[in-house]
Amino acid sequence: MVKYKKTIRLKYGNTNCYLIQGRKKNILIDTDWAGLLPNFFRLLGEHKLKVQNIDYLFVTHYHPDHMGIAQNLIEYGVKLVVLDSQVNYIHQSDYIFKRQVNSKFKPIDDSQVLHLSITQSRKFLKDCGINGEILSTPGHTNCSISIVLDSGEAFVGDLYPYDQVSLYDNPILTESWKKLQEANVKIVHFAHYADERI
Ligand SMILES: [Zn+2]
Repeated sequence: MVKYKKTIRLKYGNTNCYLIQGRKKNILIDTDWAGLLPNFFRLLGEHKLKVQNIDYLFVTHYHPDHMGIAQNLIEYGVKLVVLDSQVNYIHQSDYIFKRQVNSKFKPIDDSQVLHLSITQSRKFLKDCGINGEILSTPGHTNCSISIVLDSGEAFVGDLYPYDQVSLYDNPILTESWKKLQEANVKIVHFAHYADERI
């Protein structure tokens, strides 16, 4: 049975962003640095997509190279979905952009954000025509999440790779990978590393 139509890797800077095309709605995972909106639109065009084809945006964690154009996309009608573990972190990178001269950064408008409890994530994705769930996977940051599809694919942002877990000796990171293994993850898509099979 087809669980979702397909996933597309969209890289227009230094961050691997992903579009999951569900049977009903499309979700974007991560953005890149502020100011890269034109690059993003050009890349969408190469895939015969428009920003209007993106229904929801999830940010794996709120570092500047993952959320830089989130507010721009909100203004184009994309709904930013913030998990309960992320609510207190969505402005943590604002100060970095403020220090930049000519920054094109727009801080996220909290009133336009859609809040989602992690316990409701499976239902939310199902309504998009995507079989999967969202897990809280801290280790790189406290607010890190992973989007896990029942097909065995996981989108983990900047989580440190599985084959390096023992190097970090970090119980929080080890626990996050345990959760991903228990969710039967087989292929891991990172924001800055090549895919990993576990
Ligand atoms: Zn990061």
